[in-house]
Amino acid sequence: MIYLYQNNKEYDYDVRAIALAFFEREKIVEVSEQEWKERLAEPVPEDSGSGGRLLFLKLEYKTEQIDGLVQDSAGRQVREQVFCDYSDHGTNRNAVSRFLYRLFSKYTGRTLPWGMLTGIRPTKIVMNWLDQGMEEEEIRRRFTETYLADVQKADLCCKVASREREILRSHTFEQEYSLYIGIPFCPTTCLYCSFASFPVSRFGDRMDAYLDALKKEMSFVAEAFGSKPLTTIYVGGGTPTALDEPRLARLMDMIHQYFPVPSIREFTVEAGRPDSVSREKLQILLDAGVGRISINPQTMHQETLDLIGRNHTVDQVEDAYHMAREVGFTNINMDMITGLPGEDISHVRGTLDRLGALAPESLTVHSLAIKRAAHLNMEMERYQSLVKGSSNDMLCLVDETCRNMGMEPYYMYRQKNIPGNLENIGYSIPGKECLYNILIMEEKQDIISCGAGASTKYVYPEENRIERTENVKNIDHYINRIDEMIDRKRNMTWQ
Ligand code: SF4
Repeated sequence: MIYLYQNNKEYDYDVRAIALAFFEREKIVEVSEQEWKERLAEPVPEDSGSGGRLLFLKLEYKTEQIDGLVQDSAGRQVREQVFCDYSDHGTNRNAVSRFLYRLFSKYTGRTLPWGMLTGIRPTKIVMNWLDQGMEEEEIRRRFTETYLADVQKADLCCKVASREREILRSHTFEQEYSLYIGIPFCPTTCLYCSFASFPVSRFGDRMDAYLDALKKEMSFVAEAFGSKPLTTIYVGGGTPTALDEPRLARLMDMIHQYFPVPSIREFTVEAGRPDSVSREKLQILLDAGVGRISINPQTMHQETLDLIGRNHTVDQVEDAYHMAREVGFTNINMDMITGLPGEDISHVRGTLDRLGALAPESLTVHSLAIKRAAHLNMEMERYQSLVKGSSNDMLCLVDETCRNMGMEPYYMYRQKNIPGNLENIGYSIPGKECLYNILIMEEKQDIISCGAGASTKYVYPEENRIERTENVKNIDHYINRIDEMIDRKRNMTWQ
C-alpha cells in the first residue's frame, strides 16, 4: 500500500505510472497531508497486503520546484528534488518524470530497463527522430539520456523502428484501412486472459446469432469504407478456430462477400488454441486466401499449460503445427509468454528449444501482464508464490535464440501491469512480418474492428489525432445491441 499526498495533481498520471513500475501491483491511496502524517504514525496493520510494508509518498509543489519524499513504515527516508517551471507541462514532463524515477530508484536501489518510460509505443518516439533525419548513434544517446533507459532497449527501439520504416516506406498506407474481426469464443478460459473470450461449452449456442450480428456490422463497414482500399484483414479473438467447420466456412464466406480479399496485402487468422484446430478448418482457411496463421502454445511445458487452464497438450501444439504445414501454410506465427506462473528462465529456454525445432516464420513473445479482469489477478493470493514475472534475462535469451533462428525484431509494444515493466516483441524471418501488427502499433491508418470487444481507431495524421470507438465486450449485449454498435461507427465515420 502506498499512501500518497501531493499538493498539486499536474503530474498525477506520471506519478502513479512510474510508482507502479517500481512497486508492482501496490495499491495507491491518495490522502490529505494531515491523514498522511497520521497514517505514518500508526503501527503497520497485519493485513496491509504488502507483506507488512507501507510506503508514504509526499510530493510538494513549490515555486518552480518539486520536493519528493519516500518514507516507509520502518522509518527509512529518501528525498529528491527537481527545479523547473512544472506548470509548463509540455516542456517539463520529461524532467519531472526523471525526478520521480530518481526518487524511486534511490529508495529501491533498482534501475528499470526502460527507465522512466511508461508509454506503450516507444518505437514511435524513435520513428519520429528518424523522420527528422537523426542518425542512429545520436538517437541511442538521446533515448538513454532522456528516458534513463538501458542502451539495450534504445538499441532494440532503433532496430524495430528502422525495420518498420523500411516496410512502411513501400506504400502510402495512410490512404487505406485495415479490418479486424473478433471471434470471442475459446475452448476454455486461460488464467491470465483479459480479452473478450467465452468458453464454447457455455456460450457455443450463441455462435449463429453472433455471426448474424457480425454480418450486419461487416455489411455496414463494407458500405461505409468501400471507397477506400483495404490493406489487411486480421481475424482474432478469442480463438476464431473455436468455431466449428461449417461456421468457420460461413465466416470466410461473409468476409469474401463484403471485402476484396484477393486484392489485399495480408490475411491473418489466429488459430491460437491447438485444441481448436482440425485439418478441415485449416483447409477452409487456406482455400479462403488466408496467408498467415498463428498457433499459440504460450509455453511448451505441460505442467504450466495445465496450471493456466489451456486444456491441451504440448503434443497437440506440435500436431497442429505439422498439420498446418501439410495443408500448405507457409507463414506460421507462434506466440509464447515469458513469466508464466511457476516458470523461470530454464522453462523459457525449454520452450524456445521446442519452438526452434518447429521453425515457425515468426515468434511473438509476450511478457506476462496481470490485468485487472483476469482470473490470475482475482485469485492472486493462490498464485502469488508462483508468479515471479518476466525478467530482462528471459528477454535477452529470447532475443539471442530468435536471431539464431534467422529472425529479427519487427514490432514491439509495452503494456501496463507487466511485472518487471518489460515489453512484448514480434520477431520474424525477413519478409514474413505481420503488416497488420506494424500498422496498428504505429497508428498509420484506420483500423476498423467488428465483433464483441473490438476497438475501432480512426487516425487523422494531419491533426496528429486519433479517435476510438469500442464495441461492448459482453457477447449477449453485442448481439442484442448490434444496431447501437453500428451507430457508434456511423457517428464517427460521418463526423
Ligand atoms: S486463448 Fe487467448 S483469448 Fe482465449 S482464453 Fe486464452 S488468452 Fe483468452
